[in-house]
Amino acid sequence: MDSVYEDVRSILENRRIRSEILQEQKNEQIRKENPELDKIEQEIADTTEQILLNSLDGKSSEDLEGELRRLNRKKERILATCGISMDEFEAKPYCSKCGDTGYIREEGKDGSEKVTLCECIRTLIAPVMINRSGVEKYPDFSFEKGSDEFFSSDPRMLETYTKLKLLTEKERIPNAVFYGRSGKGKTFTAVAIARRYAQKGRSSFVIRLAEAQELMMEHRKMIQAFYTPADKERAVERKVAYLSQADLLVLDDLGVEPRTGNTEADLLNLLDTRILAGKTTIITTNFDMESLKDRYGGRFFDRIDRNFARFHFSMEGTRA
Ligand SMILES: [Zn+2]
Repeated sequence: MDSVYEDVRSILENRRIRSEILQEQKNEQIRKENPELDKIEQEIADTTEQILLNSLDGKSSEDLEGELRRLNRKKERILATCGISMDEFEAKPYCSKCGDTGYIREEGKDGSEKVTLCECIRTLIAPVMINRSGVEKYPDFSFEKGSDEFFSSDPRMLETYTKLKLLTEKERIPNAVFYGRSGKGKTFTAVAIARRYAQKGRSSFVIRLAEAQELMMEHRKMIQAFYTPADKERAVERKVAYLSQADLLVLDDLGVEPRTGNTEADLLNLLDTRILAGKTTIITTNFDMESLKDRYGGRFFDRIDRNFARFHFSMEGTRA
């Protein structure tokens, strides 16, 4: 997305270097007492490199792999005479899950490789994601703030809420419309989901739908204008990018925005871009489905009807 990943990568790189330096300091004495260690480590490095080159050429390295195992056993024996294990001799990464690369590679059942972000990188990114997400405008809207109790008077509503909470933990929130009269916890739940995404280092963005439309309109005007001040241009560009690229976008309060042909086209365009990119959008609205159909009809309603799961927020409550 942008420079935040560069910053995080350099933090990880520094961690790697630091743990190598620390380990080298510890190992110096052992190396002094066992000069043959250096020679074996050099042989191990050369052999490993040759195996890599062979694999790039598509050649087999069976004999070299045998040699590598022999060298490693020899190294282990020498270290054992000093009373330390191979593990203790190797530089230990700050994060053992990813070896400070920030990524975890897993092989799927079909043999395909799946690359996921490691917890450690998510923790580093989280504060930036929270800051961008816009959830700080709603400090009390979070899964941690006793909301289970809030929904507990209505078993059906509590079930919906619990389901959404679980899906958020698994990061499998579908495109969704939260609908129902105001004061039933729609925005609360949507913001709590967006907050959880950000806490886990994923990008999310909460914005009132009317504001999002304004932003897109401004962006359109900017493109047509001869001149826009650079800092304003950057701010608008950045926010418009969040709209289309955030892993989760919450468009709050559909139905109160001013409507023109252009704004509706912008909105449709945004939804299509996000659906195509497999990004999740949550729309909240005080209107029920019938009223939305009457109000929008056509392509916009069709998009929601086909691609969005519906969650009815209906219990007697007090929260917006
Ligand atoms: Zn890690």
